[in-house]
Amino acid sequence: MFSAKRILVSGGAGFLGSHLCERLLNEGHDILCVDNYFTGTKANIAHLLDHPRFEVMRHDVTFPLYVEVDEIYNLACPASPIHYQFDPVQTTKTSVHGAINQLGLAKRVRAKIFLASTSEVYGDPTEHPQTESYRGNVNPIGPRACYDEGKRAAETLYFDYWRQHKLRIKVARIFNTYGPRMHPNDGRVVSNFIIQALQNEPITLYGDGSQTRSFCYQSDLIEGWVRLMNTGDEVTGPVNIGNPHEMTVRELAETIVRLTGSKSDLIYKPLPQDDPTRRRPDITLAKKLLDWEPKVALEDGLKETIAYFRKKLNG
Ligand code: NAD
Ligand code: UDP
Ligand code: UDP
Repeated sequence: MFSAKRILVSGGAGFLGSHLCERLLNEGHDILCVDNYFTGTKANIAHLLDHPRFEVMRHDVTFPLYVEVDEIYNLACPASPIHYQFDPVQTTKTSVHGAINQLGLAKRVRAKIFLASTSEVYGDPTEHPQTESYRGNVNPIGPRACYDEGKRAAETLYFDYWRQHKLRIKVARIFNTYGPRMHPNDGRVVSNFIIQALQNEPITLYGDGSQTRSFCYQSDLIEGWVRLMNTGDEVTGPVNIGNPHEMTVRELAETIVRLTGSKSDLIYKPLPQDDPTRRRPDITLAKKLLDWEPKVALEDGLKETIAYFRKKLNG
């Protein structure tokens, strides 16, 4: 029998958080969306505001929060290199203090708690594709460390609260995800290329464009998250959630140029420091535990995302 849960989504006004809130509301749950609007926007959740089971609170997760909930999705954290490097100290605080506060909350109310961790815990990987047992190759003092090490410390805290306080934890390691409501100015590759292509501006390839990523469409990812949250208490993760379809950044640029019918040229810019050269998830574990794999083909997902940005640019 269905019973509605009270679910906290931190970072709920962001790209992925807003899609998650929508999905959980559609399932009939009560949603408390918590966000400090650093990279998220009210526009992302404007269509949910009139919903009787949706509530929003402006709150920074580095501070304590006392509410009564059954489940917590801990998403609050800037996700793009430009945004997480804007105030790196705050990024680490958000991951670490944010994890402590949300774990403390979960402990007090005995809520189940989910962490949106990242493939960045693998750093610039020396193993390919990346399985959950790979321990990573992260530069602890580089410009990406505030994000990578922040998430690694958050994972540590999750597993210590699990061992020490018997919390029910679910840790997902998320690989590059795209879709409508990506922030237009956060410098991520999919949004940058689509906006450049739609404006017939040069497409900026960093380095020689031969580095690879594997892009997952938002609805596939959210499905994986909800399945993970609904597993039995014995499942803690970490579980890779992402699309194993790997491509070079140059191939992505060419695909976007073709799909938009753009006149843009490809130009080359310096490769940022510590930029991982290859990334592809091994999703064997997710298939086994969650009976999950991505369904949306790259071109279909890109078409949705292009339509979103086209509408946004046209005002
Ligand atoms: P996003 O930047 O759109 O969303 C993050 C949200 O967290 C924003 O709404 C932001 O305002 C909020 N936030 C940031 N700091 C906060 C704080 N201190 N207190 C309260 N709210 C705060 O990014 P996203 O792509 O939706 O990512 C969501 C989560 O998924 C993040 O934890 C990110 O690390 C993780 N993730 C995303 C990807 C991806 O490809 N999109 C990949 C790996 C991991
Ligand atoms: N906390 C919170 N909401 C709660 C319970 C705890 O925000 O409902 C925060 C509080 O700031 C606390 C942190 O979570 O410092 C960790 O809580 P925990 O109980 O693990 O440790 P302690 O209270 O001993 O610091
Ligand atoms: N990238 C690029 N041009 C851009 C933005 C990004 O070539 O305009 C590259 C970037 O160097 C990286 C890849 O695309 O190799 C993915 O970058 P993104 O910031 O989206 O995510 P992450 O590096 O965190 O995987």
